[in-house]
Amino acid sequence: MSTDTDILIVGGGLAGPALALALARNGLSCHVLDAAPAETLGDPDFDGRAYALALSTRRMLDQLGLWSGVADKAEAIRDIRVSDGQAGQGASPLFLHFDHNEITEGPMGHMLEDRFLRRALATAVADHPAITLKHSARVVAQDSTPGNVSVTLEDGTKHHARLLIGADGRASGTAARAGISRTGWDYGQTSLVGALTVEKPHNGVAQQMFFPEGPLAVLPLTGQRVSIVWTESRDRARDIMAMDDEGYLAALRPRFGSYLGNIALAGKRYSYPLGLSLASAITAPRLALVGDAAHGIHPLAGQGLNLGLRDVAALAEVLVTAHRRGEDIGAADVLERYRRWRGFDIAMLATATDGINRIFSNDNPLLRLGRTLGLGAVNALPGARRRLIREAAGLTGDLPRLLQGQPI
Ligand SMILES: Cc1cc2nc3c(=O)[nH]c(=O)nc-3n(C[C@H](O)[C@H](O)[C@H](O)COP(=O)(O)OP(=O)(O)OC[C@H]3O[C@@H](n4cnc5c(N)ncnc54)[C@H](O)[C@@H]3O)c2cc1C
Repeated sequence: MSTDTDILIVGGGLAGPALALALARNGLSCHVLDAAPAETLGDPDFDGRAYALALSTRRMLDQLGLWSGVADKAEAIRDIRVSDGQAGQGASPLFLHFDHNEITEGPMGHMLEDRFLRRALATAVADHPAITLKHSARVVAQDSTPGNVSVTLEDGTKHHARLLIGADGRASGTAARAGISRTGWDYGQTSLVGALTVEKPHNGVAQQMFFPEGPLAVLPLTGQRVSIVWTESRDRARDIMAMDDEGYLAALRPRFGSYLGNIALAGKRYSYPLGLSLASAITAPRLALVGDAAHGIHPLAGQGLNLGLRDVAALAEVLVTAHRRGEDIGAADVLERYRRWRGFDIAMLATATDGINRIFSNDNPLLRLGRTLGLGAVNALPGARRRLIREAAGLTGDLPRLLQGQPI
């Protein structure tokens, strides 16, 4: 059976469905194909992450009609505190403090658990008549001709469209089949992720503590809960994951400290090996990449999904504008607008997260002095601090309309 649609999206994770919604709400039909069975993606235990969604991302989710359904599950990030830790010791005194009251727009972001975001996206996609979502649909081949693109599924089914989108994650087969190479490396680190209950109120404060083995982020969730992203060397993380819950908490406590009182696990524990994986191009004939398929970065700044949704917002705006003008949405000059818009932002954030990880994930005394002096200086300058707060809130740069909270 072959089906025709405007756009084929390979990948029904987070970026793929968000793009389908943005396009379908503006008159373009989409097929979303995902290799995973519906039960896997619908399982609330599928992914233990909670995302730090920048203010601009929240505005976009609002524009897509998603925010009202998840607002009561999200926790505002009111303050960000950054501190430096030493090997074998807890976090040092604070050296960077961002308070949302320094900008006029409100909290710089919200924490939202994967299970709520994924479900909201899945429901909105299922409800939209211009979107067809197919699970257990692994794409194994693709082909493009001057006016058309097609994909073949594992079971031999073919789909045709005018444009193909790779939203299939950091091991993107869509990119590989189009001859797009990748650069990157393994960080030799693993992030341990989970939710904790805490004794004292977190007051909406996100803590980032840098240790030589990797950062520990403590992020506010609703109620007396926080989400941790605890990065250790790969071997140490493997040992910690093998411990029972008490051993896990005993290993965490010296890092975490006592500022939130007693801590306890509030759900399953997860682990994610870390690496950098950048596609050498984000477009090819009749093809565009979004999300981790274009750029898988270090999670230390909590920016991966925000970056992916910036791709989605920019690409949707380029394609919808082209469609309204009567242009061919898969034409090279249309895709070139997307490449020019996104290339710089992607390169900058990948370089920044990689650089911060290198500078902070070590115990070199010279680098330690440099980071204390450098960040101490930033902290003392209200103008520089405000710029970084606006950066964290996703309010800087050439923002697509969805990220400004405007319809396309
Ligand atoms: C520990 C950790 C913490 C993080 N915290 C944050 C945070 O606080 N804030 C933030 O913004 N980001 C964060 N991120 C990054 C964020 O999780 C990712 O950027 C995001 O999940 C990527 O979504 P995606 O839709 O691009 O890709 P994915 O979620 O990887 O989705 C890809 C989809 O493609 C499908 N697929 C693959 N191959 C095929 C095929 N051949 N055919 C059909 N389907 C296929 C897969 O089944 C999958 O569903 C974090 C990452 C980590 C590791």
